Amino acid sequence: MQKKYSSIPKVDTILTLPFLISLLETEPRPTVLAAVRNVLATLRSDSVNGKMREAINEGLLCNMIKTELETLVAPSLHPVVNGTGVVIHTNLGRSLLAKSACRQMLEVAERYSNLEMDMATGERGERYSHVESLLCELTGAEAAIVVNNNAAAVLLALSAMAVGKEVVVSRGELVEIGGAFRIPDVMKLSGGILKEVGTTNRTHLKDYKTAISENTALLLKVHASNFSVVGFTAEVSVDLLVRCGREAGIPVMADIGSGSLLDLSRYGISGETPIQEYIKAGVDIITCSGDKMLGGPQAGIIFGTREIISRLRSEQLLRALRIDKLTLAALEATLRLYRDERQAVAEIPTLRMLAIQPGELKSKATAYIRRIRPKISASVKLTVVAGNSQVGGGALPQLDLPTFLLAVAAEGWSPQKIDSAFRQCKTPVLGRINKGQYLLDLRTLQDADIPALVDAMGVFQ
Ligand SMILES: *Cc1c(COP(=O)(O)O)cnc(C)c1O
Repeated sequence: MQKKYSSIPKVDTILTLPFLISLLETEPRPTVLAAVRNVLATLRSDSVNGKMREAINEGLLCNMIKTELETLVAPSLHPVVNGTGVVIHTNLGRSLLAKSACRQMLEVAERYSNLEMDMATGERGERYSHVESLLCELTGAEAAIVVNNNAAAVLLALSAMAVGKEVVVSRGELVEIGGAFRIPDVMKLSGGILKEVGTTNRTHLKDYKTAISENTALLLKVHASNFSVVGFTAEVSVDLLVRCGREAGIPVMADIGSGSLLDLSRYGISGETPIQEYIKAGVDIITCSGDKMLGGPQAGIIFGTREIISRLRSEQLLRALRIDKLTLAALEATLRLYRDERQAVAEIPTLRMLAIQPGELKSKATAYIRRIRPKISASVKLTVVAGNSQVGGGALPQLDLPTFLLAVAAEGWSPQKIDSAFRQCKTPVLGRINKGQYLLDLRTLQDADIPALVDAMGVFQ
C-alpha cells in the first residue's frame, strides 16, 4: 500500500514561517521562492511514488529548503577530482591549463586588451595575429589561424575549399568522435561532397587516383583518433598522399585530431605524429584541437599555406566560429611554453601527467597516503597497487601507461557503493573499479585535490 502525505503546504503558507522570513532577509527572494517550489515538487512526487519519509513539519521543511537553496546558489559547473587515470578526459574538461595560461587569461579578462587593435597604427587589427607567428615559429607552417574548436576548424576548411565539390576520404577514416562529430555529417554541413574510397580496412593509392576528377577539391586524411584497425590493413601514408595531390594539382588536408607539438616517444608515448611532421611532408591544410595532446584551452588550430589561410580568413563563417579573447590568451601562453621543451613538459599539466614515470607515481602514492591517513577514519583501508592509465581525448586508444593507484576499501562498502558516494560529494571524486577494487589513479590526481579526497573519505564515518 502506498502512503501519501495527507496535505502538502502551499507556498504562501511556507512564506509566513519564521525560518523563511529570516532566510528572506539574507537571500534573494526569487532564489528562495525557487527553492520552496522545488522542495514542494519533490514532496509531491515522493508522495505520488509512495516514497514519503516522515511527517511534514516545520523542521523538515526548513532543512529541505536550506539544502535546496545551497544547491541553487552553488555553481553548476565546478571542479571534480579526476582519479580515473584518463589524462585527456573529455567529460571532465579535457586538459588542465598551465599556471601561466590561467594568469594570462585573468589579466585579459579583468582589463581591456589589444585584442583587435594594431598599436603601431592605431587601426583595427586581427585577433588571430596574437598566435599566428608563434604557431608558425613552433611548427614551420607558412600561416595559421585559430577557431573555437577542431570541429569548427574542419567545418571552416571544408566550407572554404569544397562547396559543391568532392572531397576524397578513405572509408577507413570516416570516423565519429565522442560527442557526435562525424566526418560525413560535417561534410554535408559544409556543402562539400563526400567521395568515399577504399574499404574499411584497406585503402590504396590507386583508390585515391581513380577517384580524382575535375570536381575534386581536396584529398582528406582523418586521424582515426579513438579506434584502431588491426589485422589485414593498409592505408596510404601522408607522404604518398601529398605526392598524389601534387601530381593532380589538388590540395591535401589532414584532420589530425589530437595534435602534438612534441615527440613524446622519449617519455614512452609513441604513436602520435607531431604536427611538424605533417607540415614537413607538405600537407596543405592541417587541423587539430587545442585541448587534447597540446594541453591548452578548447580551440581549433588550422595550419596551412599563406594562400589557403587567407582564403579561410575571408570566410563569413569564420565570424561565427571565432575564438574568444580568454581562450586566445590561454592558448598564446600555452604555446609560449613550447619554445622550451623541458618547460612545456614541466608546466603543461597534460604533458606532465603523460610524461610522469611509474617510480614517481609510486612515491606520489605514498606521499598522498601520508597526507590523507591522519585525517580519515582508521577503518578505511588505503593500499597502493600497480595498473595502467589511458591517454584519453581520442588519442592513442591502444596505449596503456604503467601507473600506480590508490585502492580504497572499507568494511561493508562495495566498490560500486564507494563510487556512487564519492561521485555525490560536494567536490565529486571519480575513480574506477577494477577486479572488485575501487581505485584512484595517481597519474591524474592533483595536489589541490587532497582536501576533497579527505572530505570524500568522510563518507565512511
Ligand atoms: C577530437 C577530434 C575532432 C573534434 O575536435 P574538437 O576539438 O572536440 O572539436 C575532430 N577530428 C578528430 C580526428 C578528432 O580526434
